[in-house]
Amino acid sequence: MTAPKTTIKLHNTKTRHKEVFEPINPDDVRMYVCGPTVYDRAHLGNARPVIVFDVLYRLLRHVYGADHVTYVRNFTDVDDKINARAADSGRSIGDITAETTQWFLDDMAAVGALEPSIKDGEHQRAMPRATHYIAQMVEMIEDLIAKGHAYPAEGHVLFRVRSYKEYGDLSGRSVDDMIAGARVEVAPYKEDPMDFVLWKPSDADTPGWESPWGRGRPGWHIECSAMAHDLLGDHFDIHGGGNDLMFPHHENEIAQSKCAGHDFANVWMHNEMLQVEGKKMSKSLGNFFTVRDLLEGRGPGGQRVPGEVIRFVMLSTHYRKPMDWTEKKREEAESELDTWVNTLSMRHDLLGSEAAPDLADDEIVLALSDDLNTSLALTLLKRRAKFIDNSEAYLNLPDSEKLLEERRFVSSALLLGFDVIALAKNRIDRPVLYDLEHFKLSLAYERAQAKESKDFSRVDALKAALLQAGVEIRMSKDSIELSPKSDFDPAKLKALK
Ligand code: AMP
Ligand code: ZN
Repeated sequence: MTAPKTTIKLHNTKTRHKEVFEPINPDDVRMYVCGPTVYDRAHLGNARPVIVFDVLYRLLRHVYGADHVTYVRNFTDVDDKINARAADSGRSIGDITAETTQWFLDDMAAVGALEPSIKDGEHQRAMPRATHYIAQMVEMIEDLIAKGHAYPAEGHVLFRVRSYKEYGDLSGRSVDDMIAGARVEVAPYKEDPMDFVLWKPSDADTPGWESPWGRGRPGWHIECSAMAHDLLGDHFDIHGGGNDLMFPHHENEIAQSKCAGHDFANVWMHNEMLQVEGKKMSKSLGNFFTVRDLLEGRGPGGQRVPGEVIRFVMLSTHYRKPMDWTEKKREEAESELDTWVNTLSMRHDLLGSEAAPDLADDEIVLALSDDLNTSLALTLLKRRAKFIDNSEAYLNLPDSEKLLEERRFVSSALLLGFDVIALAKNRIDRPVLYDLEHFKLSLAYERAQAKESKDFSRVDALKAALLQAGVEIRMSKDSIELSPKSDFDPAKLKALK
């Protein structure tokens, strides 16, 4: 393909600089993001990396083409927290991980995140489950042992941290500082306290797989190295996740992959943590809630918070800054989105027309290309929304240009993951169905009355008014059907009530 005209700059944790992003192969830009451990509902913090990297994914697709971007995000479905949950609940591990995986997909779809994909449409393979990659992990561990970077000990296999000189470079710490600061597990079978587990033995009650070191299961870190290698190859472009994963998880991933001879990721990106009203979100502070809690009205304010509102609030803060979830931000986001949807639900030409080509605003693309400046992108999007909300300049435009401006807004909003057309259609449908139900009852009542009185004037008046509002009426002897036509105007219907 020809070189794209947009230059993307990304802050690379590894170099601590914002750098021009140069893909290894612009025909196949590849990104890996660490996904959830599936034992419980995703909390609001878990949604942050999903939304942040979803915007990056959309930007990459916009710049390089949807078929030229591969995005992989794993599910950690083997973990001691899962085992503990199974033991506590008496349910099987498979049940818990399958249910939680589906919850995660549903909740992330609700906040507008696209599913990762290898080729457009190949979603399953792009969301690998760790338990499906045990063979690849075992193979990688064997290779690390053969190369002197790992050693078996008492049914375990440990990574020899001192054998990798660059260990600590990503997070900018020396191994000795890490030992002093971290709660490293000192186990008798370790050569060095910093060495971490690649493989560990399983007892009869714990999930396990046969391996050269006996029946056991992988440590957490090896899965990402093995799956990224299998699905993205030796060398790929971007690796992402939350700040909390930088050490030890990402340091360990790098050590494993580099020592296995892979080039691994060029750019490392980390989102900062989410807080609630200035405090760390935690169960003990009573300010802990899941995405589902918010969607269903069990969050701080007690009202249902639609997914697009969650997304809006998330994107109003730059991903490298701590993000504070507040009621005030939630209200502001809700009111802004409400205005957008209201405006668009009046635009019948737009809603009735075929999907338009990508017309995203260059300035918004530029903002996102500057290390995902989503707050600036939102400001620019709000300006566009204001313009098409019957500003004088907009009203002075010929109809074709009005439509073009509306489409520019729609495309730009979609680049940030807001499907405003779907929201507007939803807005129309819901009150319409409700209102139409009301008018159906009125019409049935008036018709019954008229049959007695032989005076059909009220029935006719109501029918005329409904037709005027763009409602199609089908009446038979024992049924009445009302449905909105393309020129349907909800405002006229409201005025009738
Ligand atoms: P976990 O299931 O805890 O491994 O987390 C899944 C993802 O959510 C990781 O990328 C974490 O970095 C991220 N994450 C967890 N807690 C938060 C938080 N409070 N704010 C932002 N990201 C978080
Ligand atoms: Zn990972």
